[in-house]
Amino acid sequence: MLVVGCKKNEFIPYYQPIMSLDDKLQGVEVLVRWKLSDGSLLLPAYFIEVAEQMEVINEITITLVKKVQADFRRYSSNYNRKVFCAFNLTAQQIENKSFINLLILTLKKEKNFVPSFEITERQHFNNLALAKANIRRLQEQGYQVKLDDAGTGYGGFSYFMDFNLDGVKIDKMFIDVIGVDDVKVEVLNSIIMMAKRLGIDIVAEGVETQQQVDFLRKHNIDYIQGYYYSKPVPFKDLNFDN
Ligand code: C2E
Ligand code: CA
Repeated sequence: MLVVGCKKNEFIPYYQPIMSLDDKLQGVEVLVRWKLSDGSLLLPAYFIEVAEQMEVINEITITLVKKVQADFRRYSSNYNRKVFCAFNLTAQQIENKSFINLLILTLKKEKNFVPSFEITERQHFNNLALAKANIRRLQEQGYQVKLDDAGTGYGGFSYFMDFNLDGVKIDKMFIDVIGVDDVKVEVLNSIIMMAKRLGIDIVAEGVETQQQVDFLRKHNIDYIQGYYYSKPVPFKDLNFDN
């Protein structure tokens, strides 16, 4: 079904704003949706794990990149400044030299946004040297590479030392404890402290409440993403004015 869905061009990008602390939209995360023939949308929870274990994830990612490029071109009157655009990549994709070549080639002439990548860690890295070399190649293009869902994956922070990543996305699980569980907030504090020591960007995701925003502002993290600002939306519904 995934392969057929891909052939029928049914995978589409939704976008969630990523804001700086002064409430300005600085970037977006691209989140895939499966648009079925009856017009209904399937969330990644229903298919992404299976897709990630198959070759088809590469086709889905490249399709998304091309659709994002088309959206930025088509709606160029909607925005007046360049923002970054973050795509999700799996550990396997980062280790796949020909896929990274294709990704770089596809994005080569992109002028409308700054490409950025979030590495999800649902699967193990098998070849750290290759992953590191490919991350470096993306960074050499001027693209940022961040660790997604930090603290929940297999390697956690050990990858930072090795991979020279540009940033970390703190998982919703750690944001949910703000104002709820003082002991668990200590874990969040240490993630923030470690990222600051390493001098890398910190993005908080799954931010829903004013209390969470206040806490994150107080700790001077770099970016906030979550329903507090906006759910993922089609490109035409993004608001670049703030
Ligand atoms: P993720 O990368 O951790 O993305 C954040 C997820 O949290 C998104 O779910 C987003 O809609 C949701 N979210 C954001 N803010 C809030 C909030 O304030 N509250 C709540 N309750 N949820 C929030 P979504 O879109 O269903 O995506 C789920 C996962 O699917 C993503 O998690 C990502 O790991 C994966 N995914 C999405 N698109 C792609 C893709 O193109 N490639 C790959 N490999 N994975 C993807
Ligand atoms: Ca992500």
